Amino acid sequence: MKHTPELASRMAKTLDYEEMLGCMRCGFCLPTCPTYIRSKDESASPRGRIAIMKGVVDGLIEPDDGVEKTLNECLGCLACEPACPAGVRYSVLLEDARAAITAHKRATGQMDVRERVIRKVVFDGLFLNKSKMQTATSFLRFYQQSGAQTLTRKLRILDWFPDQLQKMEAILPAVPARTERVRRPDRVRATGTTTARVAFFSGCLMDTMFYETNANTIKLLQAAGCDIVIPESQQCCGALHGHAGEQPGAVVLAKRNIEAFESLDVDFVITNAGGCGAFLLGYDHLLHDDPAWKDRAERFTAKIKDFAQVLIEVGFLDRVTLTLPDQLITYQDSCHLRNVQKGALAPRVLLQAIRGTTFVEQQHADHCCGSAGVYNLLQPRIANDILEMKMGHVRDTAAQTIVTSNPGCHLQMQLGIQEHGTPSMRAVHLADLLAEAMDPR
Ligand code: SF4
Ligand code: SF4
Repeated sequence: MKHTPELASRMAKTLDYEEMLGCMRCGFCLPTCPTYIRSKDESASPRGRIAIMKGVVDGLIEPDDGVEKTLNECLGCLACEPACPAGVRYSVLLEDARAAITAHKRATGQMDVRERVIRKVVFDGLFLNKSKMQTATSFLRFYQQSGAQTLTRKLRILDWFPDQLQKMEAILPAVPARTERVRRPDRVRATGTTTARVAFFSGCLMDTMFYETNANTIKLLQAAGCDIVIPESQQCCGALHGHAGEQPGAVVLAKRNIEAFESLDVDFVITNAGGCGAFLLGYDHLLHDDPAWKDRAERFTAKIKDFAQVLIEVGFLDRVTLTLPDQLITYQDSCHLRNVQKGALAPRVLLQAIRGTTFVEQQHADHCCGSAGVYNLLQPRIANDILEMKMGHVRDTAAQTIVTSNPGCHLQMQLGIQEHGTPSMRAVHLADLLAEAMDPR
């Protein structure tokens, strides 16, 4: 990226200077940061990244490729935020800086053709358009079911693709048929007495590749006494746009989602993917400069909750018995569920209520697994190092079942099992494990 004064001034306009000044350089965030733990390099730490952003805005550092690389190598896991005694909102600085760089590269023709095409297809095509996402998923199902996948593997066609893509292809879940995916009603009544009225945020990947997990989440909420509405007009949360510097696309999706949910008379808007939940919670910041949307966004975000938190709140454990065959279970936190939604406790309470099983806490369960959206595809070297460390801690627990609360973590743990695990291990979403264990009283 060529240094131009325009980028420094664009970052100066976009970044909240007071927020950067809030960093008192205490370093409390350093031991929580996976990229710093891996490299011991100050520029790969939260404190270092904030200093670099501030240096660019102050005109002391040229906003060159090195600056972009440092920001791109951040996982966005936000383990640094709860550790910060000054309450610096690092997430806001990171997303605003990435948005400024992306907008600058696009405006000055510095984005190469390959990146332009990928961004166009992924952000303007797939994730901005629900029906295109459904169609793409149907192609994936065709690939999996028609014999094309078997042939591709036999002919070693995947050898032409990057290693990381080959690894991810091997662990993709079997996609359900489109006919199965559209059969769901948009309203589901509670079993027994109603405890809450909720709306379900079904997500894009969760509602295609992980459709079964969504179906199980609805089943659990129903058993917990929730009347559930699933608005058809809802869209992708926009997290991938937001984290990749594509803020205009994220804003479009945020507005569509607020419109889809705001007229519903519900107590909670429920998510079952930590990454989506955290991004929905950030809509108030995303739209804080827009007077027509600011209050609407705040009303929407006030209702966001993870399904595990709601299950505990409405007394799910008083209504059902959870039982599974004897096994050791460990939990891998979704960074965004833990660090943004403050939802670390509820999954552990639910897992510890499953009779016949033993819950084992792994060391550093709160550290990112290296998935971080599409980070494991874009930064495979760092992501794989982080995953290897993670799997060492998982193996120390001797657990057979690794539970997660986010689709990216789920796939990453499957990759971890494939690369560093044992044949008896499996990765499973919390909703799927609870549904497996549920025996209504
Ligand atoms: S978001 Fe995660 S990787 Fe990035 S600086 Fe914070 S702790 Fe480090
Ligand atoms: S913990 Fe907060 S104040 Fe301290 S160095 Fe990190 S970001 Fe700055």
